[in-house]
Amino acid sequence: MAVSEQHDAYPCSPRRQTMTRIAFIGLGNMGAPMAHNLVKAGHDLTVYDLSASAVAQLTQAGASAAADAASAVANAEVVITMLPASLHVERLYLEDDLLGRVAPSALVIDCSTISPESARKVAEAAQGRGIAMIDAPVSGGTGGAAAGTLTFIMGGDEANVARARPILEKMGKNLFHAGGAGAGQVAKICNNMLLGILMAGTSEALALGVANGLDPAVLSEIVAKSSGRNWATELYNPWPGVMPQAPASKGYAGGFGVDLMLKDLGLAAESAMTTRSAVPLGELARNLFAMHSAGGSGKLDFSSILQLYTRAPQK
Ligand code: NAD
Repeated sequence: MAVSEQHDAYPCSPRRQTMTRIAFIGLGNMGAPMAHNLVKAGHDLTVYDLSASAVAQLTQAGASAAADAASAVANAEVVITMLPASLHVERLYLEDDLLGRVAPSALVIDCSTISPESARKVAEAAQGRGIAMIDAPVSGGTGGAAAGTLTFIMGGDEANVARARPILEKMGKNLFHAGGAGAGQVAKICNNMLLGILMAGTSEALALGVANGLDPAVLSEIVAKSSGRNWATELYNPWPGVMPQAPASKGYAGGFGVDLMLKDLGLAAESAMTTRSAVPLGELARNLFAMHSAGGSGKLDFSSILQLYTRAPQK
């Protein structure tokens, strides 16, 4: 079922040249660079975020500002949301009844990472109003969002997924259709459980090496070319100074927050309980990130989990 459309199969398609009226809600670490790429691609964007400064940055780039979410979606052909968690998505679409403001002809794409149950609940409510909706959580981090190389993992009807592709291709490189409504979230949760385990494991290995006299940059280079290599050692090294572009080298600012990773590991734990699946490493990672968050690091990038292993990382 996983279909990857990495290449521009129809470069001359009239549909691809059409400017689409898009409402984009949620302009945080991920949403802002994603929205930028849609503006750059020539789409007509109306944006909204609770943070006025986040909205201001997008209007400087050419987007229009809406006073609230309802005004943002009023004339939209496509609505995209990039919010923190299930709570925010359900509150916006259901409790605040944003679905009631969306045109029945519009396509709604929720890119937030939320529980599969929430995704299905909102998709069903949309369907009840005749509105097409898919879940399309992303992978690739803020670097991928800025570069337009994200991976989108979609859940929903094939026809709606096909409608979403030309838009998502402006923000990502790999587009997968995981299955029906909520399936994108299931795949994303599995991926992030593995990511949490790998980041904690990478931090543990680097801390061990440094405690035994190794240079973290040298050890990282060795691991990146050896059997322990992973996304963290290749693109997102947790040790400050090893990768100048990584959040670790910027005081763990921006990036993917500890509390967001903790949320995703919690979603994995919930899914595991539902199906009586054993996820001992996922649970251990969840506990490590919970301890780290409780120590006051919830807003730091998740690679700061390194600090659990070494209190004063060398720069
Ligand atoms: P973030 O906290 O930086 O941004 C969330 C934004 O949503 C904020 O600007 C906030 O003001 C806004 N917001 C919240 N409620 C709102 C509402 N009702 N109306 C309008 N705006 C509202 O989070 P992020 O890092 O951009 O992550 C967003 C989602 O993407 C999360 O579900 C996260 O798990 C997922 N994700 C993040 C990364 C990453 O590297 N940061 C990577 C993949 C997936």
